[in-house]
Amino acid sequence: MYATKVSDRVYILDTFALGHQGTVSAYLVNGPKPTLVDCGYASSYENVLQGLAEVGVMPTDLRYLIPTHVHLDHAGATGRLLKEMPNAEVLAHERGVPHLVDPTRLIESSTKVFGSAIMASYGLPEPIPADRVRAVGRETSLDLGDGLSATLIHTPGHAPHQISVVLDRTKAMFTADAVGIVYPGMKALIPTTPPPSFNPSELVATIGTIRQMKPTELLVPHFGVRKDVGWVFDRTTELVQRWVEEVKGLWKKGMSLDEATEVMLREVAKDAGAADLPIYAQVSVRTSVMGIIHYLEKNF
Ligand SMILES: [Zn+2]
Repeated sequence: MYATKVSDRVYILDTFALGHQGTVSAYLVNGPKPTLVDCGYASSYENVLQGLAEVGVMPTDLRYLIPTHVHLDHAGATGRLLKEMPNAEVLAHERGVPHLVDPTRLIESSTKVFGSAIMASYGLPEPIPADRVRAVGRETSLDLGDGLSATLIHTPGHAPHQISVVLDRTKAMFTADAVGIVYPGMKALIPTTPPPSFNPSELVATIGTIRQMKPTELLVPHFGVRKDVGWVFDRTTELVQRWVEEVKGLWKKGMSLDEATEVMLREVAKDAGAADLPIYAQVSVRTSVMGIIHYLEKNF
């Protein structure tokens, strides 16, 4: 099963990223103008099509694809999917659009971070024709038909070109990576602070912005629906700030990325009440520590 209904007109599509269940999602808003929020890795595009098929949505029905930011787990499959979706338009933040149209630099910088073997498993994003992308700015309203509408809002911090999406009627919010990782069945939250452009003060300000929109539920890409909105916001804010301070201390002591990751892994495991974390959670912790070190190197 790839698709599960989670809210009024909203389905979560499990992309089974790299074969793992429950780690990277796309969401379908199944109104008169079917809309995908996030698309998953390029290598999982067939799973997204499978999920749509389960709901009874044809690729030709899709009207909007909204990759919340250009990171490969969110936007990687957009170009590939668009080829099957002749009636769809892509909406992305104006700072992300150049990377969707020409992903050369994005592929280069991601390969630097993850290495070419991991990049091969993610799959490479395909360029998106410029005339099929609409750039959005600080706030954009989108009519999805039949009284259904959404607000796209700029939510920088995790990445400078990130947007989140709120359904106006229900106040369900597709957070993108503005909030931490909350895997189902794992009690701990993991901050999402990856390289190359994580900015802690922007991320904390973003939580303030989206909190004011009073969402009733959070549709989190990693992974699933959270009704405990206040807890997720509080915990994200608290942990982003704490992790930056802690990693700063470790980094000043001269610890390597691997050593600092070990320390933070132990903390998350303790928080989760587990002896060991699943491999995908370990990778998330390492990527977040890497992003904080990258930020520290640029700023201190
Ligand atoms: Zn992500």
